[in-house]
Amino acid sequence: MSNTFYPPERLLMGPGPSNVSPRVLSALGRPTIGHLDIAFIALMDDIRSLLQYAFNTHNDLSLPISGPGSAGMEACFVNLVEPGDKVIICKNGVFGQRMQENVERCGGNPILVEDDWGQAVDPEKLETALKTHNDVKIVAFVHAETSTGVLSDAKVICDIAKSYGCLTIVDAVTSLGGSPLYIDDWHIDACYSGTQKCLSCVPGISPVTFSKEAVNQIKTRSSKIQSWFLDMTLIMSYWGEGEKRAYHHTAPVNSLYALHESLVILKEEALENAWQRHDANHDLLKNALNKIGLTLAVPEDIRLPQLNAVNIPNGVDDESIRKTLLGEHNIEIGAGLGTLAGKIWRIGLMGYSSNPQNIARCATALDAVLNQN
Ligand SMILES: *Cc1c(COP(=O)(O)O)cnc(C)c1O
Repeated sequence: MSNTFYPPERLLMGPGPSNVSPRVLSALGRPTIGHLDIAFIALMDDIRSLLQYAFNTHNDLSLPISGPGSAGMEACFVNLVEPGDKVIICKNGVFGQRMQENVERCGGNPILVEDDWGQAVDPEKLETALKTHNDVKIVAFVHAETSTGVLSDAKVICDIAKSYGCLTIVDAVTSLGGSPLYIDDWHIDACYSGTQKCLSCVPGISPVTFSKEAVNQIKTRSSKIQSWFLDMTLIMSYWGEGEKRAYHHTAPVNSLYALHESLVILKEEALENAWQRHDANHDLLKNALNKIGLTLAVPEDIRLPQLNAVNIPNGVDDESIRKTLLGEHNIEIGAGLGTLAGKIWRIGLMGYSSNPQNIARCATALDAVLNQN
């Protein structure tokens, strides 16, 4: 016979999920109501306006996709990319790789602008690519590369893309709520995020937003969107304006209570304060790590405050340290991926997890584990 599952109490300081605030967890546990209930529709409208706040946008089409960040990614690509479309992907880590996969599966023609893992997207390389290839329809890139801890300059990249008449698709899974992000001012046409990073909500929901120009593209496509579930023209009939909503799929009702509460918390703190808190805690972590002889891998000017790539000292076994941290100290940190596997740890300071107490606890535990091995 199986018993009720009680998870261990972990401090989540990896690349996501981050710790979920008790307020969000208690919202999650409230009674389920129907996804077409008038009270739920009012909640949906409030989620839209809170997402507009978080994304800094007036886009009507701002909503949570019922699926993780990867579903939001797919929603942007399947709706905007048609067979034969040329899409430039600025790739500097794991998540750019996935964009390429998405474009290929949509029948599009991906053009790669590559930078080394651990470097930011180079705007000059993008400009060169746009001069070389005509008829590029879309430029896509990752704002905050969680695989490497690097922030790219979304404003500059979008400005260049726009000057060549392209639409822009931006992955803001890790940046939303942690780093400045201005959908309207930066001319981002389609953007997707996640709930489990700086929003500190439960995983499995993906906030997305589409500009008027993107919506226009979607409505005037010549080919059918290949995904029924992620077809925004169908989703709009459920998430649209007014009280008339058509059933598309059953919304993850309780998860949306949770998302709503996490956005209320963000608005109470105010976006600018949340960004500043992530910055200040990054500085604290940097100093705490320096004190125990550890250094950060990413140059200061392109460092993500919410995801810190830490150099693993020579001769230290990556996996055994992370295992001991989790097993003996209940602290989760992330491993390096791809070419950075075994070379860096990834210490997340996201949302509710980003506070001075957690930083002190993590640094003390890391120091103890490094000295006992
Ligand atoms: C976590 C993450 C994703 C994927 O989100 P899931 O919720 O795991 O599907 C995509 N892009 C970036 C930059 C991420 O950090």
